[in-house]
Amino acid sequence: MTPAISVENVSFAYEDEPVLRDVSMTVEEGDFLGLVGPNGSGKTTLLKVMLGLQSPDSGTVRLFGTPAREFTEGTRLGYVSQQSTEADATMPVTVREVVTMGRYAHVGLRRLRDADRRAVDDALDRVGIADLADRRINRLSGGQKQRAYIARALASEADLLALDEPTVGVDTDSVGRFYELLDELNAEGITVVLIEHDIGLLADHARTMACLDGELYAHCGTREFLESDALERAFSSARTVRASALAGGDRR
Ligand code: ADP
Repeated sequence: MTPAISVENVSFAYEDEPVLRDVSMTVEEGDFLGLVGPNGSGKTTLLKVMLGLQSPDSGTVRLFGTPAREFTEGTRLGYVSQQSTEADATMPVTVREVVTMGRYAHVGLRRLRDADRRAVDDALDRVGIADLADRRINRLSGGQKQRAYIARALASEADLLALDEPTVGVDTDSVGRFYELLDELNAEGITVVLIEHDIGLLADHARTMACLDGELYAHCGTREFLESDALERAFSSARTVRASALAGGDRR
């Protein structure tokens, strides 16, 4: 089967700061991939490169088999960035309006039809916030907002969800229910790629895990990952970099 995402020998630098070094990995359709690594290790950058939002300096990215720069089915990808939950915070838009924005990719310039409104209602229902549809998005809790953005992706018929630390600032009970939702969506066939700092929590849900610190230390099944020394190696490399930074040998 063609992978949902394939990354081959990808390197990326912000101006002169190398962030990703020769990263190769594939995300199979239906996977639930957890991406972990120290702060500043390039997780967000890799996620953006994987989604074609950031072009690598070298290497190739394919989305559902198509080179990322030629990929035109953006609605298949639902990305909830760390910023997206803040972006609408000041805007006077309702939850339904935010979710409807996801639908516009299919609507284009025509008017919304009943089928589009149904798709929006279904998406709200599926993530369990139908009762909040008419509330301002900025009145939602962190967990509810994440659900709204997932509903927006579902309304656009995304079959891959990429989430960047979605549970930061979300209370513990809501985090548990949020992961249950991700499990349900994944069981329905939606591919999930998630950055999460709580490795124990992630390991309870992810099918595969990848560990990054500039380079990829491991990408394998969750059990194998936990039994490996990938985390230790990635985090001790970060310590080495920080120690060298303190000694003035590195700008980080
Ligand atoms: P992580 O998600 O693992 O915390 P990031 O991918 O956000 O890591 O960042 C990796 C490195 O790239 C960090 O050193 C960060 O400061 C730097 N960086 C991230 N975004 C930018 C940017 N837009 N411009 C310049 N440097 C950036």
